[in-house]
Amino acid sequence: MLALAALLAAEPALAAPVATVADARELLEKGVGFDTVKGRGKVPAYAEYLKSVLVAAGFAPGSISIEPVGETANLHLVWKGKGNDAPMAITGHMDVVEADPKDWVRDPFKAVEDGGYLFGRGVGDNKFDVSMVVATLAALKKSGFTPGRDIHLFLSGDEETEGVTADLQAKQAKAAGVEFMLNSDGGGGELDANGKPLGYSLSAAEKTYADYRLTVTNPGGHSSRPTSPNAIAQLAAATAKIDAYRFPVQINEITRASLIAEGTKKGGDLGKAMVAFARNPDDAAAVAVLRADPGSIGQIATTCVPTMVNGGHAPNALPQKATLTVNCRIFPGVTVESVRKTLEGVVADPAVKIETGQEWVSTPASPLRSDIVAAVTKAVTAARKGVVPTPAMDAGASDSVYYRALGIPSYGVSGLFMKSDDVFMHGLNERIPLAAIGPALTHWSTLITELAK
Ligand SMILES: [Zn+2]
Repeated sequence: MLALAALLAAEPALAAPVATVADARELLEKGVGFDTVKGRGKVPAYAEYLKSVLVAAGFAPGSISIEPVGETANLHLVWKGKGNDAPMAITGHMDVVEADPKDWVRDPFKAVEDGGYLFGRGVGDNKFDVSMVVATLAALKKSGFTPGRDIHLFLSGDEETEGVTADLQAKQAKAAGVEFMLNSDGGGGELDANGKPLGYSLSAAEKTYADYRLTVTNPGGHSSRPTSPNAIAQLAAATAKIDAYRFPVQINEITRASLIAEGTKKGGDLGKAMVAFARNPDDAAAVAVLRADPGSIGQIATTCVPTMVNGGHAPNALPQKATLTVNCRIFPGVTVESVRKTLEGVVADPAVKIETGQEWVSTPASPLRSDIVAAVTKAVTAARKGVVPTPAMDAGASDSVYYRALGIPSYGVSGLFMKSDDVFMHGLNERIPLAAIGPALTHWSTLITELAK
C-alpha cells in the first residue's frame, strides 16, 4: 500500500489505488461470521467491526455513525470531499437471509474455502460488495485520496425484511443533497461455464412489487341448501380472468437497450423477437414470442399472477368468504392504484373487492446519465477486459426503491461476476468464486475515483 501511495503522489495520472485481495478477503470472511439474520441482533456488532476497519484506515470516528434501528442499525459514513460536485451515496446491506445449519453442508456462518469458492450465508448477498466497498474506501483513505465530492456510505440492516433502515437512509441522503446513489446490491456480471465474462448489467430501474387482495363475502349457510352465487365460484371466475389477462406492453430507454443487447447476443427466435420489439413495440409477432417466455414477459409489461388462495370454513358449509392474493410486478412509472383499477376492470364483478392492504413504494426508472454510464463502463472494462455494461431493469425490489421514490437516481453496480449456476443467493450453500475479489476491487476503486474526481 505504501509503495502504491508513494507512486501515486509522484505520478497523479496513475490508476487509483486498489485494496489488496488479502485485506478484502479478511473483511468478507470475518463479515460472514456475524450471523446478521433478522431477530438475532447481530447487525450492530457487524457495523462496529466495519467501522473499526474504516477508522484504522484513517477515517475520523466522528465521521461514522451507527444509529440503532430496532434490533438492527444504520451505518452512515460521511467522507467530506472538495465540493466540486453535489454529494453521492453508496449503499449496501449488512443483514442476510436466514440459513438453517441443518440444511447446509457447511456451517453457514463460517466462511469456508473449497474448490476455488468461498462458502457462507451472505458471502454473495450482500457481504461481498459491502466488503469490497469498505476495503476500497479504506485503501483510498490510506493513500491520501480526497474525493472531489462528499461520499455518503449507507449500510442498512433490514434489506431482506422490513426495509425500515433504507427508508430512513434515503431521507438522510435527500437531506444531505445526494445527487445519485450507487447500490452495491444490484447489477453485476455474468460468467460463462468456463469463467469467461459474458456481460455486465447496470441496473437502472426496478419493477414495483405489490400484492393485491381479492375478497368475496357471502351470507353462507348449510351446504345441503346451495344458493347462488357461491363465494368460491365467484372468486374462481375472477382468478381465471386475471390469469388470462395480459397488460399492455411498455418500453423505456433501459429495457430498449437491454433487449437489443441481450437479443443480439442470444439470437434464435427469442433473440430476434427481443430486437424486433425494441425497434417496434407494436410488432405483434414479437410480443407473442416474448409473452410466452417467462424470462422476457416481465421486461415488456406489468405482470400479475394469482399466488395464494383461501376460502370456506367447513366442509359442509357454504363459504362465507374467499380470498385471493395476486402478486404484481409493475412497470416503472405505473402507479399501484392504476393497476388495482385495471384488475377491477378485468374482473368486472362488483362482488369481488380488490385492495392493496398496504402501501407499496412505486418508483420511476433512473435516467441513464452519461457520467454514470461512462464511469461504470470504465470500471467494468478496467476489471474485465472487453466487457461493456448493458442497462437493465430488475424484476425485484431493493433498497434503491426508497431513493428513487425521493427522486434520487439509483444504479445497481455490484462488482461481482458469477456463473449463473453458482448463484445461490438466499438459497443453500451460497458461494462466490474467490477469483472475483481482485477484479471487484479494481471495479470499485475505478468507479469511486471516476465519479468523485
Ligand atoms: Zn441483497
